[in-house]
Amino acid sequence: MSAELIEGKPVAKAIRKELKPRITALKERGITPGLAAVLVGDDPASTTYVGSKERACERLKLYSEIITKPASTTEEELLEIVRSLNKNDKIHGILVQSPLPDHINELSVTLAIDPAKDVDGFHPHNVGLMLIGEQSLLPCTPHGILKLLEFYNVETSGREVVVVGRSNIVGKPIAALLVQKSSPGNATVTIAHSRSNNLESICRRADILIAAVGRPLMITAEMVKPGAVVIDVGINRIDDPRVEKGYRIVGDVDFDNVSKVSSKITPVPGGVGVMTIAMLMQNTVLAAEQVCSDKRPE
Ligand code: NDP
Repeated sequence: MSAELIEGKPVAKAIRKELKPRITALKERGITPGLAAVLVGDDPASTTYVGSKERACERLKLYSEIITKPASTTEEELLEIVRSLNKNDKIHGILVQSPLPDHINELSVTLAIDPAKDVDGFHPHNVGLMLIGEQSLLPCTPHGILKLLEFYNVETSGREVVVVGRSNIVGKPIAALLVQKSSPGNATVTIAHSRSNNLESICRRADILIAAVGRPLMITAEMVKPGAVVIDVGINRIDDPRVEKGYRIVGDVDFDNVSKVSSKITPVPGGVGVMTIAMLMQNTVLAAEQVCSDKRPE
């Protein structure tokens, strides 16, 4: 391997360090930032993610609530939970863990969340503000990627970025953020997806290649321009009888081979995933600060 590792841990640590005095200042004003996570069903990966988010809150001494509901929960019941969290003064951030059972419309649930408490940054109100470059609660994974690029001194201005994947939670927002007239930003961005022709040649254009696909190891060394920076968002479980759990986690990038041609690369695990949680904490603190400033006398 010749590439430098872009690890999430030191960046997340720096973010926690920056958050601590902000949390103290809020507590001095009687506000403990609070996050509520709603988990519907018993998807094992979702349970793991929600557990990590709860531990992150404990670490920063934030208030957290996990609301666990069976997969049979109706959409109306879930909407009622969201409405009551909207009104709950102890809660500044609400997240409803996806995927939701098929009978529940995810968009209806997202729309029900008060945009001021939308710490996932998925509500169209926040998505719109992000798109026009105004301050908003930014989606955590794309925001975490920006922080990684900044921390590891990856210049984005004028560079070619290729994002593989066009989901509303990763692909589209990271593309929108990197194209902004800001730093990081000012990049020339291409979004590729399952209908793109000649994916390999599109990817080889990239100075910065971001993979957010959900297909284990699909980005091979041949798809990467020598010296490119590679950000792997993918989290995929693959069977591995050699380990006790019977599976291991890999990204969308063939790390062993791509790390020989790229200049910098994120590992999986230990790269982007760590940042997603750090940015969730940051959004929860920001949402609480917003409440605080709204209460400030004119
Ligand atoms: P989605 O399934 O919503 O989107 C996947 C995207 O990849 C789609 O746009 C799809 O194209 C595209 N795609 C699928 N197959 C191909 C292919 N063969 N060639 C090119 N493009 C393809 O996934 P998410 O964006 O939600 O997540 C992507 C990955 O990132 C997953 O592994 C997920 O677990 C992980 N993830 C990690 C996070 C973290 O914190 N590290 C946070 C969120 C997600 P089309 O639109 O045409 O179907």
